[in-house]
Amino acid sequence: MNKRTITDADLQGKRVLTRVDFNVPLNQQQEITDDTRIRASLPTIHALLEKGAAVILMSHLGRPKGTVQPSMSLRPVADRLASLLGRAVAFAPDCVGDEVRAMTENMQPGAVLLLENLRFHAEEEANDPAFAQQLAALGDVYVNDAFGSAHRAHASTEGVTHSMTLNLAGLLMEKEIDYLGRAVAAPVHPYTAILGGAKISGKIDVITSLLDKVDVLLIGGGMMYTFIKAQGMEIGTSLLEEDKLELARQIMELAMQRNKQLVVPVDTVVGREFNNDTERHTVRVTDMPSDMMGLDIGPETIALFSRHIRESKTVVWNGPMGVFEMPNFAKGTMAVANALVEATDSGAVTVIGGGDSAAAINQVGLADRVSHVSTGGGASLEFLEGKTLPGVAALTDRME
Ligand code: AMP
Repeated sequence: MNKRTITDADLQGKRVLTRVDFNVPLNQQQEITDDTRIRASLPTIHALLEKGAAVILMSHLGRPKGTVQPSMSLRPVADRLASLLGRAVAFAPDCVGDEVRAMTENMQPGAVLLLENLRFHAEEEANDPAFAQQLAALGDVYVNDAFGSAHRAHASTEGVTHSMTLNLAGLLMEKEIDYLGRAVAAPVHPYTAILGGAKISGKIDVITSLLDKVDVLLIGGGMMYTFIKAQGMEIGTSLLEEDKLELARQIMELAMQRNKQLVVPVDTVVGREFNNDTERHTVRVTDMPSDMMGLDIGPETIALFSRHIRESKTVVWNGPMGVFEMPNFAKGTMAVANALVEATDSGAVTVIGGGDSAAAINQVGLADRVSHVSTGGGASLEFLEGKTLPGVAALTDRME
């Protein structure tokens, strides 16, 4: 990666303004129900403290849309972070302003301060230059460790870097760029991508750009039924994007022209209704009943997909194969997770692109058995499309 990271910087005595992703789920009592994202930032925070820095942390939480929403305060995060770090974490009642400025002015090495939710100010998402400058004035050096927000040019991810002389990648950011970068720039072949999830829309760009790079593209999830229908088959009451039928045909055509294997499932698990306990059957995709809906890939498809995955040296996965939130329709997704683990064990680089597929691999406890689970759903998709992420582009280049 050609960006400077915290590893090679002298940060002794510096106040390091660090963008993290503390967008954690809270319940109605404002208790954190999953602290994965806080834990994910610990290596970077520890590294900064070991280097003798004072650490100022900033993040967004939820969508307060530019207004102060007490239910989306980051205060509970400060408490949880303090117990995870085993040291005091001060909390600022805002992210800009005189009071916050004063809190940062005399910070000593080893001190940690968390700022209040950036999105309490509309200027954050608007990337307002004056607001970005106010943020920049709080620290001496900027660090971005929030990969999941790097695809948006916001004040805390992009604007702020204009007023800083040193903009560094944190350890989590570095790992994301390293693994996703390998899949984009120099994948070892055979290279297989697996795409699932609900819809084709939103993934069109990634499908077309991946078709350039991969050898095999496996299609599962809700989007598979539009492809099946585009081949002229009955799909019953399955999810259908009528307006994407032509596009699905074009994608299949493109794959043929480029000599790529685009693999659409051969069998599927259908249910009468959209719930876990509904009547269900496994059928070939040529025999889908008109009054049932497809909710998972079938066993033959699982075997087919698993074989492709196991034979690959680079694997990228985004989107569940079925409605994995319902245990009766989670088999396909879990089987793909297991196949990725097997491929990893045989030396493949395996990358999971955030969102629901990350949730699925966490659910089966296999997250540490693949090469990398991305923390950013949208950001990882844009990265895989080959787009430049503004939050990454803004970081200081490494000098050769
Ligand atoms: P996405 O956000 O596009 O990645 O979609 C993820 C969602 O797709 C998950 O909540 C899955 O339950 C859903 N999904 C996967 N397969 C199907 C299907 N066959 N029918 C309806 N929804 C599905």
